[in-house]
Amino acid sequence: MSDKTPPTVFAKQIDLLYQNAPSAILASALIPVMFLIFLTDFPERKAIQTWAIMMELVLLFRMFTIFLYHKRKKKKSFQVKQASSLFNTGVAMASMIWGSLAWWIYPLTGDQSTHFLFFISLIGVTGGSVASLSYRQLPNYLFICLTTFSMLIGLYRTSGHQNTAVAIITVVYTIFLLKNVRIMQGNNEKMLILKEKALAREVKLKIASKKTEVASRAKSRFLANMSHEIRTPMNSIIGRTRLALDERIEPKMRSHLETIQSSSKDLLALINDILDFSKIEAGELKITNKPFNLYETIQSILNTVKVLVQDEKDLAVTYTIAPDVPQAVVGDSLRLRQILLNLLNNGIKFTENGFVDLSIECLKSTDTSLLLQFKVRDSGIGIAIDKQKHIFDEFAQEDDSPTRQFGGTGLGLAICRQLCQLMGGNIEVSSRPAQGSTFTVAISFQPCEINDLPADTTPGKIEQKQNAPMSLLLVEDNEANRILARMVLEGEKHQLVEANDGLQALHILSEQKFDAVLMDVQMPVMDGYTATRIIRSLENGDPVTDVDNQLTEKLQKRLSGCHTGVYRTEPF
Ligand code: ADP
Repeated sequence: MSDKTPPTVFAKQIDLLYQNAPSAILASALIPVMFLIFLTDFPERKAIQTWAIMMELVLLFRMFTIFLYHKRKKKKSFQVKQASSLFNTGVAMASMIWGSLAWWIYPLTGDQSTHFLFFISLIGVTGGSVASLSYRQLPNYLFICLTTFSMLIGLYRTSGHQNTAVAIITVVYTIFLLKNVRIMQGNNEKMLILKEKALAREVKLKIASKKTEVASRAKSRFLANMSHEIRTPMNSIIGRTRLALDERIEPKMRSHLETIQSSSKDLLALINDILDFSKIEAGELKITNKPFNLYETIQSILNTVKVLVQDEKDLAVTYTIAPDVPQAVVGDSLRLRQILLNLLNNGIKFTENGFVDLSIECLKSTDTSLLLQFKVRDSGIGIAIDKQKHIFDEFAQEDDSPTRQFGGTGLGLAICRQLCQLMGGNIEVSSRPAQGSTFTVAISFQPCEINDLPADTTPGKIEQKQNAPMSLLLVEDNEANRILARMVLEGEKHQLVEANDGLQALHILSEQKFDAVLMDVQMPVMDGYTATRIIRSLENGDPVTDVDNQLTEKLQKRLSGCHTGVYRTEPF
């Protein structure tokens, strides 16, 4: 090993030598056999037979060393230097036997054509060795020098007037071979070093990208948790402001409160976007497919956005549903709502006059799947062609100047795209500046019968029978939110029982029946998801293992066969 050769590259070189050797050895093994077949009138037949046997034995020994190498390579005790020495020994032995053809067998005959045959065989074997031994200089030098030196001795020992010329040609040929060996070996070594570096870089990159991925997930999880923590007091601020606005107050104070309310709502919308986005990034956002009434959902979305159209805008907000679009489908109504609300809100935000229209069509319908297309068209300011491909990237806004006219985070469309993908669909835009935009969303659903729809499919809305007061269980860990809910709900004459967490709620439910449960999601001891899952399992008569047997039995008695509406207290 030269000083400069790194150990890993040296090991690779030796490995390549062992890999290349078998084909060269097999080709060499044919030559003695040819001699025995064709040189039948050679004067010293015994000598050439002995030589052929010695040659084949050495080649066999080399094959055995290759076998040994591959066997030992897998073992921990394997030594590259030993493997290298063994290889060189095999090469030296083979070159000495080839050399003996020149100094021993060559002078035994005076026949010119036999001389030519020996000479051409030796030149061929020496030339061929350069390629197969090109990864290390030492075995190559050994082979070339020992063989060609023996050729010179053979020529010296044989009478003939052209021998001097042949010897000169042999020397020139040897020098040429040695020079080429040096260049080839150098190039091969450089290539192996580069390959080694590229491999090391690839491993480093993989580790770095894994680390970045882990860090990014941790960041997204942190953001998701933080956003949740910020939302809780925000709800309290918005709710209390609403209650304060219901009071009789002087106009100046009302104006202050209205500003607080609208700013808080903007802030909450922003936090909601960040929360959703970080949840998607952390892979924590799950799509919940349930049967829902598509027509009612669309109607409710339109009612929500129509409120946003300011009086000063001359804007018609319309919708059409193609007759072949079924009323009942299985899908995630909340996420569909979120996508359409964002697209319609954008349409209204970026259109001064004209229209914003939602149209729904069925693209494909089978017994088990439905592909629906939702098109939101507007006659607004449109989007420049070069900005359209970036519009779905996070934080992308067409106008990103500090003096931009329209607010927003640039997260809405990024979230829409991610949600569409999670729901097995996609979203596209086509737009012309000053002429309007069309956002086309395709989402997969499953068909279902209208009878399969549960009673409470409108999200977050409690069915209240004839405005009668209801008995409600509020499950909420944040005290400010509990006080707020109490003020609002008791103001509407409902009876309220409060629980701090999911487990406490289960204990209360085991004692008392309620018209509905208002459930927070993230809570200590037991979160809202777990508590709701337990309630639903017990209602359906399914086994439950999360709580102790005594509580399970009591809950079973109260809940089995019933259905209590559980409503999430967090806004989406
Ligand atoms: P936001 O509206 O909060 O900035 P979005 O991701 O919803 O974020 O939209 C990103 C950008 O795409 C907007 O800032 C706007 O430049 C452009 N855009 C979206 N919808 C429309 C539309 N209907 N008409 C014109 N531009 C739009």
